[in-house]
Amino acid sequence: MIATKAKDFEELLNRLSEAASIYIVGCGDCATVLQTGGEYEVAEMKTKLEEAGKTVTGTVVPDVTCQVLDIKRLLRGDKEAIESADGILVMACGAGVQAVAEIIDDREVFAALDTTFAADKFRGGEFYEWCSLCGECIVDQYGGVCPVTRCPKGQLNGPCGGADKGKCEVDTERDCVWTLIYNRLDKVGDKQEIEDRMAEAKDHEKSTKPHEYVFEARRG
Ligand code: SF4
Ligand code: SF4
Repeated sequence: MIATKAKDFEELLNRLSEAASIYIVGCGDCATVLQTGGEYEVAEMKTKLEEAGKTVTGTVVPDVTCQVLDIKRLLRGDKEAIESADGILVMACGAGVQAVAEIIDDREVFAALDTTFAADKFRGGEFYEWCSLCGECIVDQYGGVCPVTRCPKGQLNGPCGGADKGKCEVDTERDCVWTLIYNRLDKVGDKQEIEDRMAEAKDHEKSTKPHEYVFEARRG
């Protein structure tokens, strides 16, 4: 899922200084799980904006805000509230903000959240960046533990000289990812293979942005 973090409210108010009336769009998917743009947070934002003197013309929390055609249908049903707003505040990731901007093209769109990383979730309130969407997945060569993302230096041949007693020099509270890789490979009997191998540099052309997939879908 996509991790997001609420922007500082005072900074957000500054951004909204020209908009007296606001329509709020949340997201029922990732931003709900991250507690940054679900029903609860949208209602809370509405109250805070009203306390700050803004008029909130309406709110909606689509199931998945980056689903452009679905939200187009949904927002059509709230045309009046949208048209009476000076601006649209989106409490979703950057993909959601852009989906809303694609549909509502005659109003300024504001991002309420910072979009931070693709997250692996454990229990509620515990999210980790384990994949940075590099475009060429080599994680299976490292026992399913990604050095591209989980090593601050992205060491494909590690550990670096700073590893100390299995901990990372950049953050000594964390295990060096190479400790995790070796432990994992040891368990599955592949440790020798990685000790003997020198990884080649990644093909960074595969991470050129923007990516797109356009194909004949079997299902809608
Ligand atoms: S190598 Fe790492 S960053 Fe790249 S796609 Fe695989 S898990 Fe993600
Ligand atoms: S100590 Fe390990 S995780 Fe930290 S930067 Fe060096 S190789 Fe990467």
